Amino acid sequence: MENAIRDFFMHLSQNKVLNQGAKRWGLKLGAQHVVAGTTIDEMIASIKKLNEKGIACTIDNLGEFVYEKVEATGAKEQILNVIEAIHTNNLDAHISLKPSQLGLDIDYHFCRNNLKEIVTKAKKYEIFVNFDMEDHARLQQSFDLLDDLSADYDNIGTVIQAYFFRAIEDIKQYKNYRLRIVKGAYKEDATVAYQDKNEIDQNYIELIEWHLLNGKFTSIATHDHYVINHVKDFVKKHGIPKEKFEFQMLYGFREEMQYELVIDGYNFCTYVPFGEDWYGYFMRRLAERPQNLNLLVKQVFNK
Ligand code: FAD
Repeated sequence: MENAIRDFFMHLSQNKVLNQGAKRWGLKLGAQHVVAGTTIDEMIASIKKLNEKGIACTIDNLGEFVYEKVEATGAKEQILNVIEAIHTNNLDAHISLKPSQLGLDIDYHFCRNNLKEIVTKAKKYEIFVNFDMEDHARLQQSFDLLDDLSADYDNIGTVIQAYFFRAIEDIKQYKNYRLRIVKGAYKEDATVAYQDKNEIDQNYIELIEWHLLNGKFTSIATHDHYVINHVKDFVKKHGIPKEKFEFQMLYGFREEMQYELVIDGYNFCTYVPFGEDWYGYFMRRLAERPQNLNLLVKQVFNK
């Protein structure tokens, strides 16, 4: 049953008509609890509140799977505006971006040039840029983009998704980067990815431990308290300093736990999505945790 619900929301997340339509609706269906507004000003106001509590942020200008150059160029311009806003407002924040929003599905070199412009501007202000990882079809090209740009830039990093069989090789290859480690959010084929939750969880722990011991800087991005408690014990046992890692969670999720981790002295970073293109992101959150449906139900009954 749980798999059927997951597949249903995954299917909805990729529906092009609904993705386009939702841009005209404004934040609806409860998405406003997990998306920090549709404009840069609204997003900045949310980040200021988080920064005041000692929480750093990574900003995602929502949007993905773009097939028109004009749309990808618009997304690039918006991200450049976000970088300027981080600098002007002196925010403790960096950028998370999706290559498919910046033209990866249109033309690799067009996408690379868009990323280069973003990374150049971010570098000017010493702002870090994370290349979020999407589905398997885009995985190798996203690593290629990172390789291409890392010859000239040191303010970039990426994500390792624990459900992929190849994740352990990738983490070894990219150990000198700042890496975010996640379980993985997309529906992937059994030929490339673990399907069983226990196997994914076990691989997730192994990757985190490996990178904490061998890597540059580790962002442990999860809402799973078992993993978080395990990491707390592991870093204590191995004397890993708090400057070498941080916890990350999504905006609007487990907020009490986010504050508790900060109060306990851990570095913490909230992933802050904003923008009109919220639909696919919100549907994936419903797919990975059907309990998130309570956001939607509350919204319906509060009307
Ligand atoms: P789950 O396996 O979803 O949950 C484990 C357990 O934690 C649950 O059984 C429950 O007990 C508890 N729990 C989880 N959520 C809650 C909650 N809201 N309230 C109470 N208890 C809860 N995926 C990608 O593929 N690419 C990316 O670039 C990417 N970036 C991410 C960035 C961040 C900051 C985060 C947090 C996630 C990102 N993800 C990304 C998504 C990730 O891959 C997972 O799909 C998502 O985080 C769900 O897995 P989980 O680790 O949170 O734990």
